[in-house]
Amino acid sequence: MTKLIFERPIIQQINAGLPSKYGMSHKLEPISHIDNVSIKSLIESYGSPLFIISESTIRKTYKNAFRAFSSRYPKVQFAWSYKTNYLNAVCNVFHQEGSWAEVVSGFEYDKALKNGVPGDLIIFNGPDKSREDLAKSIKNSSLIHIDHFDELYEIISLTKEIEVKPKVAIRVNMDTGIYPRWDRFGFNYENGEAWDALNRIMANKKLDLLGLHTHIGTYMMSTDAYKIAASKLAELAVRLQQKHGHVLQYIDMGGGFASKNTLKGAYYPGTDTTPSFDDFAEAITSALMSSEIKPDNLPLLILENGRALIDDAGYLAGSVLANKRLADGRRATIIDAGVNILFTAFWYEHDIRPVEPVSEQTEDTTIYGPLCMNIDVIRGNIMFPLLKKGDQYVIKRVGAYNNTQWLQFISMRPNVVLLDANGKPHLIRKNETLETINSQELTPEHLKNFDL
Ligand SMILES: *Cc1c(COP(=O)(O)O)cnc(C)c1O
Repeated sequence: MTKLIFERPIIQQINAGLPSKYGMSHKLEPISHIDNVSIKSLIESYGSPLFIISESTIRKTYKNAFRAFSSRYPKVQFAWSYKTNYLNAVCNVFHQEGSWAEVVSGFEYDKALKNGVPGDLIIFNGPDKSREDLAKSIKNSSLIHIDHFDELYEIISLTKEIEVKPKVAIRVNMDTGIYPRWDRFGFNYENGEAWDALNRIMANKKLDLLGLHTHIGTYMMSTDAYKIAASKLAELAVRLQQKHGHVLQYIDMGGGFASKNTLKGAYYPGTDTTPSFDDFAEAITSALMSSEIKPDNLPLLILENGRALIDDAGYLAGSVLANKRLADGRRATIIDAGVNILFTAFWYEHDIRPVEPVSEQTEDTTIYGPLCMNIDVIRGNIMFPLLKKGDQYVIKRVGAYNNTQWLQFISMRPNVVLLDANGKPHLIRKNETLETINSQELTPEHLKNFDL
């Protein structure tokens, strides 16, 4: 008989579910179903880990956001932020709901066109628009949001070659009381650069100045910042009318509303602290309505929200690979989804739950991903039930930025399924395989063989 390996005994407080002098226990309710579809059955059919996106949640969230704005302001238009989640099926749900497309690269621009978005309903943002991108978007009558003077001059030079008059807006950055300030995109308001750019555009006459744009940051918790931003854009609009007799067609307030995820280090959960769409809408529309813009000239209000519209609709489900004790006796649970596919684990304390009811006992646990990298931590510390190898977990609110920022690193990116309104699953992005990766690689002839 082989001798058993000695394991150092440890004493660890286990939370057994009863209230103690520290208050109620931290019981994590299991989540077994999404839109009445069993997560276990989805993992059986599509593998582990697996992204699951709820179409009903997207539509419900969108309708709620649209109602918040359109009930307060006469003309409202949303434009879906492609970089937040540009899986075509997801984009098309937003387009079916009425959203235009908001893109920040030539690649995203082409993706929107291919999805069938008419060129004149694509908003082209960002500092990286090549001459070819600009030429194409001018010909398509897309809305080009100019980021810097070099881009303005490039567009002006293109007007000599292209018959179509470019439709432009400028992006404006400003002090909204949020620091660090996002002043690297667009033209600054306080130092007069934005006003300078507007005057140059008006003087040129070859450009069609349609609007003003800002995007003040991301995961913004302050509705006041939007109020300040909207007032400053309204003031520019008024000055344009006073000096040039020019009436703008739209004001685009960008995106950036916080989702209900909890930021790392936050004291209260995001579900308690994130302002609602109504709160943001009240701040923005009251700033526009009470500005000096004449009621007949009120511009179309465009919103480019990403995160707040899609985060709730995305789930990441998978399986526990192992449990172990760290050197100090701390419990560690290793799951099959790492930070390479859950990039937002760097910012958020993600809400992770067991899929099936497990023991009432919880213990302070670190949840690691499967990567051979020290940074691969999904939750640094969480009172977590004692899941066993093979048990399943699900992580809530992962719809924003993960399906675009994920990396093929050490392991492959998994399947993504969309549950339609009837709960029918549709595979919307296939998992990668070795062939996917190798198809992009070329091995020089002299490196094809070796003898070991
Ligand atoms: C990223 C981005 C958005 C969307 O931001 P969210 O924080 O996801 O709402 C909107 N507009 C611009 C210009 C962006 O760069």
